[in-house]
Amino acid sequence: MRPLAFLCLLTLTGLSAAEEKCVVWKLDDVKAGEQKRLAPGFKRVAEWAKAEKTVVTMGVICDSLAQPNAADVAWIKANAIENGGVIEFWHHGWDHKSWTDAAGKTAWEFKGPDQATQAKHLKDAADLFTKTTGLSFHVFGAPYNQNDDATIAAMDAVPALSIWMYGPKNDPKRQVLGRSLNIEVATGKVSYEKFAQDYTAKKPTGLMLLQGHAGMWSDESFQDFVKIAALLKKDGWTTLTASQYVNRAAKPAKK
Ligand SMILES: [Zn+2]
Repeated sequence: MRPLAFLCLLTLTGLSAAEEKCVVWKLDDVKAGEQKRLAPGFKRVAEWAKAEKTVVTMGVICDSLAQPNAADVAWIKANAIENGGVIEFWHHGWDHKSWTDAAGKTAWEFKGPDQATQAKHLKDAADLFTKTTGLSFHVFGAPYNQNDDATIAAMDAVPALSIWMYGPKNDPKRQVLGRSLNIEVATGKVSYEKFAQDYTAKKPTGLMLLQGHAGMWSDESFQDFVKIAALLKKDGWTTLTASQYVNRAAKPAKK
């Protein structure tokens, strides 16, 4: 066997996804309703992903679909990876609320409320998304990344959710994908300079699940995101959706 062919074969058989350098883009806060419309920033990222022949993931806040906007829903369908597009859409809660209770304590949609309430939010959101788009969620990420033990139990209400982005390490049933580096220095503000510093200092490998709020990005933030993606591409990172990453990691090496 020629050395080059042997090397390619090694690449196929010797590396699992966990050992590879994989990046998953976690972009939060898609809305698609008459009252809460899709932000143009998501369309800009989708166009970029198409041009780059790469993929991203976007989290949907599902109460926006109670009064769906036809054009926004058509955009979700057209861009969904199941329909040949570049986006894996994921479950980002029903209403994305946080509030202060009578005792002055902060609560979130999935941290504070009882299990039944959380289960209802999870199921209502998943059902409405499927009814509106014909698609199904496989991945969950809580608003504000806030959750508690009730959330772990409530997740059984939607068995198709097998992957949890920035989830709790003590969930025995779901594949939890954790947080390492950040691309945003504040919610909605990307910094290439800060990311490049952290990246050089920490030399990450394995999975990098990187969160952003593309709907809030200025032109400058979008350009910094593009620069970060270019840096990772140059350094040999493979870009996947969350489901692609997990399914790839679970498979035995190809023979
Ligand atoms: Zn959010």
